[in-house]
Amino acid sequence: MDEFSLIAKYFKPLAASFAGSLNLSDDAAIISPPENCELVITKDAISQGIHFIGSEDPALIAAKALRVNLSDLAAMGATPLCYFLALMLPKNTSKEWLEKFVGGLKETQEKFSIKLAGGDTTSTEGRISISITAIGSVPTGKALRRSGAKIGDDIYVSGTLGDAALGLELLQKEEENDFFINRYLLPQPRIDLGMALREIASSAMDISDGLVQDLGHICTASNVGAVIYSDKIPTTNNQQLITALSGGDDYELIFTAPPDKKQAIEQISTSLNLPLTIIGNITNGKSLTVLDKNNNIIQIDKKGFSHF
Ligand code: ADP
Ligand code: MG
Repeated sequence: MDEFSLIAKYFKPLAASFAGSLNLSDDAAIISPPENCELVITKDAISQGIHFIGSEDPALIAAKALRVNLSDLAAMGATPLCYFLALMLPKNTSKEWLEKFVGGLKETQEKFSIKLAGGDTTSTEGRISISITAIGSVPTGKALRRSGAKIGDDIYVSGTLGDAALGLELLQKEEENDFFINRYLLPQPRIDLGMALREIASSAMDISDGLVQDLGHICTASNVGAVIYSDKIPTTNNQQLITALSGGDDYELIFTAPPDKKQAIEQISTSLNLPLTIIGNITNGKSLTVLDKNNNIIQIDKKGFSHF
């Protein structure tokens, strides 16, 4: 199948209801931001051998590729709008693989109200890579940034931490446990939470590289320090502490808010049916300290994931 029939058959249906895609029949898409909004734009690429093995269900690979981008939109407080898909596929990619891949995109699009707006399709001598650019919108000036944390703010995380890293470990050991493995394979972008936090959080980001490393990014951007209490970190089981502190791929949100927002945040937690847990506070200085339940400092050697 040539590139043009491939686009017509598999990708046009995913773009059909997004007018700006021009039905993938022109050179580029045309997008106007919703009234009084700014566009929030993010890109995340995943490649075979690094982010996925290749033997997974193609629907799951597609879902993960789109979901990690949605998680970045969530972290900015954005409402999903559309996405662009660059696909680099080996020449021998089967029709079945593509059909399942497109199925995974379709399901994810529907779940998170986002539409395909364009992309590029090329063959590669190497392994599969998938690059997605996602676009969302946020009322002008209301995007959640990493840089707004203030001394005295509470530090919150959504959901539970360390599940995905544990899931990956189990996958690698070929052990079974659907709950943890799914937490790794299928991140849950916290879109509704991000949107609800627009007027409430002083800073936010998504945790993709481990709690300690990612909180470090908020501290650097906000020019503050932090203390977190390890016994307050929400985990699925109690053995998970180090994984929760440094394990990647959680895609939960970490955010800060002044103490007077506590009640509003409890209400958001109830209405979204999602735990939002205070794990520590923003401090002055630049250091990030992790304390155990006896207030002794825990040294973290393994800070989180880094590619290089
Ligand atoms: P060009 O010759 O400029 O590379 P293409 O043939 O790649 O143009 O693209 C034609 C149209 O198809 C464009 O609207 C482009 O956005 C869309 N398109 C190509 N590949 C994809 C894809 N993988 N997903 C979504 N849209 C795509
Ligand atoms: Mg092109």
